Amino acid sequence: MPDGVIVKALSGYYYVKPILNGRAVTTIGQKAIQCRARGVFRNRDITPLVGDHVVYSLTENGEGTVTEVKPRHSELIRPQVANVQFAVLLFSLREPDLNLGLLDKFLVHIEHAGLDTLICLTKQDLVDNELLDKDDPITYVQELYERIGYEVIVTSSRSGAGQERLKERLAGNICVFSGQSGVGKSSLINAMMPGLNLETNEISMKLGRGKHTTRHVELIELENGAFVADTPGFSQLDFLEVETDELSACFREFAPLAANCKFRGCSHLHEPGCKVIEARDNGDISLGRYKNYEHFYAEIKDKKRRY
Ligand code: GDP
Ligand code: ZN
Repeated sequence: MPDGVIVKALSGYYYVKPILNGRAVTTIGQKAIQCRARGVFRNRDITPLVGDHVVYSLTENGEGTVTEVKPRHSELIRPQVANVQFAVLLFSLREPDLNLGLLDKFLVHIEHAGLDTLICLTKQDLVDNELLDKDDPITYVQELYERIGYEVIVTSSRSGAGQERLKERLAGNICVFSGQSGVGKSSLINAMMPGLNLETNEISMKLGRGKHTTRHVELIELENGAFVADTPGFSQLDFLEVETDELSACFREFAPLAANCKFRGCSHLHEPGCKVIEARDNGDISLGRYKNYEHFYAEIKDKKRRY
């Protein structure tokens, strides 16, 4: 029986696209197979999710039956998608301006969720004329984050910059595109997938409503076998799930240092013999990142007090 991935779940139906070795094998535009799940799932408390790898069989009327849900590698809560391997973090260079505090916050959530990630700077066409400045935003972000071990891709859905490289990185993965509203997520997905026409901000403004109002999450298939969730991941960045003692592990460059701090359970805020503070003082880690660590630490403590 064929393998597939659930790309949409609606009113008791699961829409399944065939896959082979984890990659989509349909031709683009081919409709997903409308399936019912076998009753057995209900008894065993399995609710199939979008992103689940399944085994299905075809029935005579062209529909199908999901007969098995394969074990999940991961389960993201918002949006609720199984088996997401990859989060693309989108930040626009302009309109809105880059917000590195928010970028670091997203990175904490991604590290905490154990996802692979890359940073995607969007709207490159808007900074074309600044590229000769000595503090141009692209060089700054690339140097800072690549040194820590994150990949940074610069894109524009207007000029097409970076799209091929991004697509290559997504191939064969289930991905979410995360980032504030307005950074260009829908535009970039549309640009990479001609004919798709996800609603962008301009269109929703014309229709007089917000984007993604009462939508169900759906996986969109790119022609290279990547699946992208059409609603943003990590839409609520409220730190409810992160504990203070887990925070430094979510800063990639802190984690190896933290292992050598003098005190076990060092908060890296004031303790003597703290290797993170030492690295901050001699410039081995960025002061900006350290300050964001302090902010988030305080924010988590505050949240825990109130809930
Ligand atoms: P989303 O909310 O993250 O999905 O963002 P949208 O895709 O709806 O884009 C928000 C606004 O930014 C829209 O007005 C787009 O036309 C504009 N935009 C998106 N990508 C680019 C780009 O690469 N360059 C420029 N100049 N504008 C863009
Ligand atoms: Zn320490």
